Amino acid sequence: MNLILLGAPGAGKGTQAEAISAKLGIPQISTGNMLREAVKNGTELGLRAKAAMDSGALVSDDIVIGILKDRIAEPDAKNGYILDGFPRTVAQAEALDEMGVQIDKVLEIHVANERIIARMSGRRVCEKCGASYHIEYKPTTKPGICDVCGGAAVQRADDAPETVLSRLEVYEEKTAPLKDYYWETGKLVTVEGQEEVADTTKLVFDALGING
Ligand code: AMP
Repeated sequence: MNLILLGAPGAGKGTQAEAISAKLGIPQISTGNMLREAVKNGTELGLRAKAAMDSGALVSDDIVIGILKDRIAEPDAKNGYILDGFPRTVAQAEALDEMGVQIDKVLEIHVANERIIARMSGRRVCEKCGASYHIEYKPTTKPGICDVCGGAAVQRADDAPETVLSRLEVYEEKTAPLKDYYWETGKLVTVEGQEEVADTTKLVFDALGING
């Protein structure tokens, strides 16, 4: 199954992608996590992406399409994958089509902007493996320590309130048009993000026809 998760930053795509990945045994492919890794490692790609990421803007289509194309060619992606944070522009969606990728479903997680802004301040992400947490809704067992790998679970620089606002604007302008793009293919399903992670996961599994 090849899935796309759509939704504003902070809607819970990463968390739900992890749940689907665990359930179906297919990898979560997060361009945001790959880019953060590149920035952390100081690679050339990371250096090119950093300024855009820090300001809440999108990294250029060329860069992101390149890393995505390489990633889906890896062996663990041969039975399917969950795209988390890609595509984010119509040009990226068209590039996927041109690569011949067959998408089974596009799942939109909808959360109102006011709730997103409140949520983002509590979001934490593991510096090492990229696992997502929230201090209230999905806390780590030990404060600040990733349950998966023991890395540090920290706040992302781009989760600062000013940057969140501009990321939401970028989402409306550049990414929201993808809802129409995929609506026309008949593959779009929307679920309403709930306060509790497990409640959203149930809706997500139902929408995908996966037995909880
Ligand atoms: P995310 O973790 O998905 O919220 O992504 C964090 C940041 O990485 C975004 O704000 C963008 O700067 C960049 N990014 C991630 N995925 C993409 C993409 N598909 N296209 C462009 N920029 C991206």
